[in-house]
Amino acid sequence: MYPSEILHWIDDGEAASSGGATFEKRSPIDDRVVARVTRGAAADVARAIDVATRAAETWARLPAPRRGDVLGRAAALLRAKEQELGEIVQVETGKPWKNAVAEVASSADLGAFMDSEGSRFYGKTMTSPVPNRSVRTVRAPIGVCAAIMPFNSPLAGIAWKVFPALLCGNAVVAKSHELTPYTAVAFGKLLRDAGLPRGVYSAVQGLGPEVGTALVRDERVGLVSFTGSVPTGKLIQKTVSERAVLAKVCLELGGRNPLIVCDDADLTLAAEHAVASAFIDAGQRCAAGSRLIVFDRVYDAFREAMLTRAAAVKVGSGPQDECGPVISRQSLERLLAAVDGAVQRGARLLAGGRAVDALAPGYYMAPTVLEHVSPDDELSQQELFGPVTCLYRVKGFTDAIELANGTAFGLTGAIHTSNSHRVEEFIARYRAGLVSINGPTYGAGPHMPFGGVKNSGNGFREPGTEALDVYCEWKTVVVNHDPARV
Ligand code: NAD
Repeated sequence: MYPSEILHWIDDGEAASSGGATFEKRSPIDDRVVARVTRGAAADVARAIDVATRAAETWARLPAPRRGDVLGRAAALLRAKEQELGEIVQVETGKPWKNAVAEVASSADLGAFMDSEGSRFYGKTMTSPVPNRSVRTVRAPIGVCAAIMPFNSPLAGIAWKVFPALLCGNAVVAKSHELTPYTAVAFGKLLRDAGLPRGVYSAVQGLGPEVGTALVRDERVGLVSFTGSVPTGKLIQKTVSERAVLAKVCLELGGRNPLIVCDDADLTLAAEHAVASAFIDAGQRCAAGSRLIVFDRVYDAFREAMLTRAAAVKVGSGPQDECGPVISRQSLERLLAAVDGAVQRGARLLAGGRAVDALAPGYYMAPTVLEHVSPDDELSQQELFGPVTCLYRVKGFTDAIELANGTAFGLTGAIHTSNSHRVEEFIARYRAGLVSINGPTYGAGPHMPFGGVKNSGNGFREPGTEALDVYCEWKTVVVNHDPARV
């Protein structure tokens, strides 16, 4: 059941904001107000950090395999409560049911993966040229971590950050996205039921410039782990750099991901993957395929196959649907205006470009395909985060790679070809954190490092074992065990 009043989760209990202010949470499915959310202030953030600071030390001293046990129990609870948590994700995002429950399952998988990492919390031993000296590295917790979330996959987003952070022995203060506020509280209750000690995890509600800024500025926070847009990521980096004491900053940002279709590709398969890449989660994925780069020789045939498949995409939030609503009315209006603007500048609309009237007042946008968009146009260069994709015609491979690399982003990308040399060249020459061969532009799993280059991130990878390097510090230990004889 989705609650009508949503509060902070601090010190293992729900608490209203000190200021008493609230804001509305509306359903993307039908524009209904589903809850009033407490609007946090700096004092609420300070309280959550006080609690986390007190809880962190005891949690850090628990052996890593025992911390892993808590995560394992949380993973089991996620599986047992799939229906309940899927409903929360669906109310908040409006995503089709199968995608909402898939998010619960992938969050549970990550919990199980991180549980097992508790038994492999290894460092290195190193040789020393000095007698009676041993040298090794150990993983050390950071202390209090801030986890700042986007709205698109609220449960998976929290799981990606909180499970590895806890495994590494940190306390976490999460900032819910204001458009998906309850998931982080439900996650807190689940962690409590799994046996996480009191105060190790908190979640605060509110707006970015209010609670987000307070969290980032607090010098007791040793790591800010942020997933969201490029402008907010850059602002957070700047805010942290202005603190008297720096913090580690992990930025997982946006994408403008290309899918290249070569003249030797299986066009039916490529069209299937292009449509899934563009329209799953209504294109509100950092890994969405928003630029379809197609060789001249197969352009017309691919366009036809792709438009036929796009026309069959079922828009709605039901069990059989594929493309849900976008997150807010404001987002829908922004997307429609962006498409209109591109058309006025010379783009040709091949499909969509309008709201789905039959599903109003829900925020549904018809899957939208454009062509004749200049590579320099703002529509090609900026992340849209909606069900909008563009077709680009290129002469051949070199032009395709140049176009693929021609934005400030570098998150993911795909190529469809049966030529192994083109595959290897794409892997070598396309600059991104993830490349996919004959598949969609997305793809992530608990064991896979994910992250971007250029404006898509600042070099960290989550999850996989690489996530442990985000949420730990490496400490080098030098022991002179018989100093008198050195
Ligand atoms: P956003 O940047 O608007 O907001 C993200 C979070 O930052 C929200 O919780 C918001 O309240 C908070 N925030 C805003 N201003 C802040 C400030 N001054 N200080 C601290 N926090 C602040 O992003 P969004 O629209 O919610 O999310 C969509 C973006 O997330 C897209 O760009 C998408 O590509 C990206 N994303 C990236 C990944 C990845 O792994 N690379 C995954 C999912 C989403």
